[in-house]
Amino acid sequence: MKHYRCILALAALTFGSKAIAAVPQTMERASQRTLVIIKPDAMEQRLAGLILARLEGEGLSPVAAKMVQLDESTLRKHYAHLVGKPFFGDIVSYMTSTPVMVLAVEGDDAVAHVREMIGPTDSSIAPKGTIRGDFGSDKSRNVIHASEDAAAADAEIAFFFNSSEIF
Ligand code: ADP
Repeated sequence: MKHYRCILALAALTFGSKAIAAVPQTMERASQRTLVIIKPDAMEQRLAGLILARLEGEGLSPVAAKMVQLDESTLRKHYAHLVGKPFFGDIVSYMTSTPVMVLAVEGDDAVAHVREMIGPTDSSIAPKGTIRGDFGSDKSRNVIHASEDAAAADAEIAFFFNSSEIF
């Protein structure tokens, strides 16, 4: 978002405000929704409010939210790409260890924006300033899930919420 604003400011300074009207629609970053799960290690550390405040502080608004006790069957669907991995049992133990908070948040370019905010999977190498870098422990206990791409976001939001729960 910052880069886009910079480009607009530069265009206005260089060419005047008419240049802004000429910026093609394709450069605009559309409002988008993404799914977030505040994981058990974050719930145990009472980080839910802080994580939500970070998301809101970056212009993302919750449009759906609930507490969920995950189970293996749900995790086999949500993490279908990991079911065959040797660590899948650890994921199930970890993700079912406490209820989690599941949210859909909305904002400009939300999928990429939230992924950037959370940092890479492995918290031990995630940069400080990212949510995983600041609060996570390792590649398993990494405090937060966020959808990887727009297709995953749509599917995950529909998986966790029915339409009457999304505002
Ligand atoms: P991400 O959550 O960054 O999208 P993945 O979809 O690859 O990453 O993994 C889903 C979750 O499974 C991770 O967030 C983490 O909790 C767990 N996980 C991933 N890789 C490992 C691993 N090698 N060992 C233990 N847990 C893992």
